[in-house]
Amino acid sequence: MENFIEFTNVRKIYSMGEVEIEALGGIDFSINKGELVIIAGASGAGKSTILNILGGMDSPTSGKITVDNGSISSYNQKDLISYRRYDVGFVFQFYNLVQNLTAIENVELATQVSKAPLDVNQVIEDVGLTPRKNNFPSQLSGGEQQRVAIARALAKNPKLLLCDEPTGALDYETGKAILKLLQDTGKKTGMTIVIITHNLALTSIGNRVIKVKSGKVDSVTINPSPMDVEKVSW
Ligand code: ADP
Repeated sequence: MENFIEFTNVRKIYSMGEVEIEALGGIDFSINKGELVIIAGASGAGKSTILNILGGMDSPTSGKITVDNGSISSYNQKDLISYRRYDVGFVFQFYNLVQNLTAIENVELATQVSKAPLDVNQVIEDVGLTPRKNNFPSQLSGGEQQRVAIARALAKNPKLLLCDEPTGALDYETGKAILKLLQDTGKKTGMTIVIITHNLALTSIGNRVIKVKSGKVDSVTINPSPMDVEKVSW
């Protein structure tokens, strides 16, 4: 599906007392269904603001955002709750797992807010965590915790998976394994995946690369044949 996600002239101004900070200064881009999208840019460029707005956690000051024909920029609070609950899977840099629940319980918890959850054991298996599923987060490595976070997001069977610097807290090899998991997941399930990163080397793995600079889209590149994560180094 073309234009599964569409940002049209999206602006975001944060007001801090007298001072106004323009985080997004009129952003336009579109994303097709099933793409792995890399949003890249330096710190402060506006990546997190884009991801938070796309995830329904923040709203734009002006402009229009549609996701799967839903105009999320005109959603009220109740619509946004449903959107976040049913349509969006979120993966954070620092995993954000519930510490007193095991890996599988963390994933099960997420499925309780889903209309059509996937089979929890299958998702755990798909991310390579079956042997560790009864461990608590503190008993897992960073890479394993991120696998739980990905499983938790996927098990909800969301329309799109949003990843905020998913390898930022991981060492090189573990980070690569996580990116490979995300790329493989996209290929296997056809899910639309958006990853934000400050690491420009990652751009070669995306079907579409949106570079942002000072709150504006600097360039959009389509990769007809994205590289396999194994072949990328940085
Ligand atoms: P990135 O994710 O690319 O590092 P951000 O989207 O976090 O960039 O930030 C873009 C700009 O907006 C920065 O100048 C940042 O300081 C500012 N900003 C982000 N969030 C807030 C906020 N809640 N209040 C005020 N300014 C913010």
